[in-house]
Amino acid sequence: MSIVADRLKRIKPSPTLSVSAKAKELKAAGRDVIGLGAGEPDFDTPDFIKEAAKTAINNGETKYTAVDGTPELKDAIIAKFKRDNNLEYTRDQITVGTGGKQVLFNALMASVNPGDEVIIPAPYWVSYPDMTLIAEGTPVIVECSKENNFKMTAEQLESAITPKTKWLIFNSPSNPTGGAYTYDEIKALTDVLVKHSHVYIMSDDMYEHLVYDGFKFATPAQVEPDLIDRILTCNGVSKSYAMTGWRLGYAGGPKELIKAMAKIQGQSTSNPSSISQAAAVEALNGDQSFLAERNNAFADRRDMVVDMINAAEGLECFKPEGAFYVYASCEGAIGKTTPEGILIRNDEDFVTYLLESKGVAAVHGAAFGMSPYFRVSYATSKENLKEACTRIQQACSALNKMEAVA
Ligand code: PLP
Repeated sequence: MSIVADRLKRIKPSPTLSVSAKAKELKAAGRDVIGLGAGEPDFDTPDFIKEAAKTAINNGETKYTAVDGTPELKDAIIAKFKRDNNLEYTRDQITVGTGGKQVLFNALMASVNPGDEVIIPAPYWVSYPDMTLIAEGTPVIVECSKENNFKMTAEQLESAITPKTKWLIFNSPSNPTGGAYTYDEIKALTDVLVKHSHVYIMSDDMYEHLVYDGFKFATPAQVEPDLIDRILTCNGVSKSYAMTGWRLGYAGGPKELIKAMAKIQGQSTSNPSSISQAAAVEALNGDQSFLAERNNAFADRRDMVVDMINAAEGLECFKPEGAFYVYASCEGAIGKTTPEGILIRNDEDFVTYLLESKGVAAVHGAAFGMSPYFRVSYATSKENLKEACTRIQQACSALNKMEAVA
């Protein structure tokens, strides 16, 4: 009998693992590899946030805190929701966890009964389907078309809803596409949801502040206040404040759900790090001006990457509004052969070819539930990106339509 529980059989090993393992292998063998797989900003946590953490340590804020967040942090989150999203929450409607990931996980574990359906628009962030499966739910994947920049339409949402639907997971700006929904696009979805009172909405706003060219971020609870009792608005400091390692996420939502989430956290990890909570208070209450500066750098890199990918033979991508990802189609490369005579059958073959022939590591679209695409993260220097995109162009030009050797 295996030591491993049956519930683990429901989930897959991370599909991104094979590419990153191969990239590591090549690097260890001395190859010059440029990684375009990063899911975190290359910038450092701003100094004023680090200082707040040091002060917390020096002041002895080193003990257990309330399970789902200190009152100071909850108040900073309440103020943030009011300031940025015009949402009104009280402390008992706020939860804080060890990263956005734990908050989403707690929410699904606290609410999903066996067989409940969770609508997940694809391409999706890799963890949504597997978290749903651990919670004994059924992921309902809705493929969103390239023509609509991978955004779900009201019609698609309407036809995915059944009596068993528990949640819609909504993510804007999106990992992996970088695409963001406008106010009107969200309104079209919330108009559908208003009619289905048994459906809850988990809005993952992790990339809220990473939007460019004056794009106006919006979130479902703000767009349709009538739905407030059915929305969990999730966010965190990981991406916007370059604090991925601090592990601090939060959400605002209905009291009953927030209480249930705290119950799970109280019997598993308890409070997130007291030091990280103190740092997050400063991140949310402090000077936000560094965000605009960093966003200028991100937008500049995005523009270059999009132009260079669109100039590569057989590749195509739209210019996304936010996050730090580009989701490019490699349809034009499928069916071609490499100079070594290997047939490119799918997006996984394509990223393997990029890695092996040019030392460029990207993640294939199948990992995010939609092929044939690949995700490029531009959370690395412009020099690296320029070199990587030049190599991608060269790799694409080297492909040909000849028959495969074997
Ligand atoms: N949601 C999305 C869309 C993400 O891309 C990520 C991280 O990659 C998370 C949530 C989790 O963030 P955290 O690092 O705070 O757990």
